[in-house]
Amino acid sequence: MQSVAPRAVDLGGLTVRRLLPRSARRMIGPWCFLDLVGPLSFTSAAAMDVPPHPHIGIQTVTWLLEGEMLHKDSLGSEAVARPGVLNLMTSGRGIAHSEETPADHSGRLHAVQLWVALPEAHRDREPVFDEYRDRPAVELPGGRATVILGELAQTHAVGRTFSPMMAAEVTIDAGAEVVLPLSRAFEHGLVPLIGMGTSEGQTLETDSLYYLEPGRDAVAVRAMASGPVRVLLLGGAPFGESILMWWNFVARTTDEITAARDDWQAHRRFGEVERYAGARLEAPPFLARPVPANPMS
Ligand code: MN
Repeated sequence: MQSVAPRAVDLGGLTVRRLLPRSARRMIGPWCFLDLVGPLSFTSAAAMDVPPHPHIGIQTVTWLLEGEMLHKDSLGSEAVARPGVLNLMTSGRGIAHSEETPADHSGRLHAVQLWVALPEAHRDREPVFDEYRDRPAVELPGGRATVILGELAQTHAVGRTFSPMMAAEVTIDAGAEVVLPLSRAFEHGLVPLIGMGTSEGQTLETDSLYYLEPGRDAVAVRAMASGPVRVLLLGGAPFGESILMWWNFVARTTDEITAARDDWQAHRRFGEVERYAGARLEAPPFLARPVPANPMS
């Protein structure tokens, strides 16, 4: 298994650990961005306050292990993500949103923030925000899983998706081994979120990403005897399109990115997050070439 160590990124006072995109691994199926937030404790100050900013060409997936995250967007949506509640925002051609710790919070935050690249046929669609409160559970010998999107062990999580993909959070009991069934058509990634494990003789470090090539029927993951391990499993059919990423935009050409930047700066296309109290984010200057997000670029 190829392993990818996280890179620390400062999001204005909040340090997160980025696992995608990295030079060693740009995508896993349509999954093109993966940040780990926390686990952290905080008292009076809010842990998170990301002012309104735009997205194009993606879905954002917010999944929490602890705490709360308040989402507001330019469609007028307002929703609090909590453990077990999936927030799924489809940007399509353009949306703006903010992410804050709500006033009524637990003082804890541990979250996974992901982007899914939208395929060509859907990337210019109208934006939409979905909240799902009913993620299915799966009992497995040695542990259990919650299916976040797609399918695991014949259990399907209903959700708005646009290409073949899946995500699940798996808990493996201390000292036990779980065999996770995989789709042969998918590539996969494993990320231990809490605790450590092993797989096929390889140690799985907390907050690192382990990549599995397509063609596998299963992967076995064992928890250390000292405690259980909670693992994020991501999968998807290799994304057959070259994408460009710059700031919060996923596109195909530099012209699309500069047009989106110009529209944001001119208050066109994306709308305003009316319910957010404060200024929105300004786009950084467009200087560098956008980063190709997969090797086909
Ligand atoms: Mn965002």
